[in-house]
Amino acid sequence: MNNEIQQVRALMAQKPRANLGFFPTPFYKLERMSRELGVELYIKRDDFSGMSLFGGNKIRKLEYLMGDALDKGCDTVFTYGATQSNHAMQTVTAARKLGLTPILYLNAYVEPDENDIRANMLLDRVLGAQMHIVKGLDGETEAQTEARCVELGHQHAQRLEAQGHKCYDIPLGGASVVGSAGFIGGYAELMEQCADMNLEPDHLFLATGTGGTLAGLVAGRAMLGGGPRIVGVAVSEKGPEYEKKCANLANGALEWLGAPARVEDSDFTVDRGYFAPGYEQPNERATRAIRMLARMEGLITDPVYTGKALAGLLGAVESGQLAQGSRVVFWHTGGATALFAEREILGDLSQA
Ligand SMILES: *Cc1c(COP(=O)(O)O)cnc(C)c1O
Repeated sequence: MNNEIQQVRALMAQKPRANLGFFPTPFYKLERMSRELGVELYIKRDDFSGMSLFGGNKIRKLEYLMGDALDKGCDTVFTYGATQSNHAMQTVTAARKLGLTPILYLNAYVEPDENDIRANMLLDRVLGAQMHIVKGLDGETEAQTEARCVELGHQHAQRLEAQGHKCYDIPLGGASVVGSAGFIGGYAELMEQCADMNLEPDHLFLATGTGGTLAGLVAGRAMLGGGPRIVGVAVSEKGPEYEKKCANLANGALEWLGAPARVEDSDFTVDRGYFAPGYEQPNERATRAIRMLARMEGLITDPVYTGKALAGLLGAVESGQLAQGSRVVFWHTGGATALFAEREILGDLSQA
């Protein structure tokens, strides 16, 4: 295993990378939750990825995305997301550190109150990002608004390029081939920590949105061989093509890295049972999961991503899908700023 990990590291070291985070992120056992659930539960703290207090999983992607942007001589970075996008906010922090101009095209699933800007939008403001808020039009689906948002960003980038700027375009969630590859390194990092602890995890749970994180982890597992079953708990509705999209990202990342391994659609396990009613819309099971981890371990998860993923993990313990005594890793992807966002994102969490 150690040899394979070194091979991953050697391939990753050939790629341009911006140093943004603090790695390795902590990894350890949750003793009280483990006793309560009857499984050995471990946590991977990518909420501690840096570089600000408000880091999360996007930092691993951004190290390679920003490395690529600098390598290509770009001076401006465009990205997209919801108004409360963790990815957009982390991209702005990275752009500021590296001296690139951050421009955001954000769609308003939840309409921000101009007089009471909160959470990630507030941070985007403090960081001085150029923000363009795109509201849904009558009769437009969320997917159509999202597509229009991206189109507006592309047109803006073209105007800037005509003036001599060089723009780098980061897709929603940073889920490009380059971004996803960051999680191949993340997977190798986890496996190294597991090896040091003499631990062979059976399952790994994480929240999946755009799929870049899941794709990178599954690609990493394909490179190293063996490894835990990886379950992505969907945080929004995913069509039947989602696994294929993730597999394409994973294979693209492997190819980009120059690794011979490949994955199949069937390597992806996506649990669609915990996102309802929808993205940025809270549900009772996530609320319960958030309270449970907070009250047993003093750790904070969020209603949009990690709370739903944790609910998926707890549900799998309850249903017996995870055998008693099995070794389970929860990959904490960050996102706690959602707790300070609009009330409609929070649900009942403010109640006792
Ligand atoms: C973006 C995000 C995810 C999902 O990652 P993807 O790579 O988009 O699937 C999970 N958790 C948090 C907190 C995030 O911000």
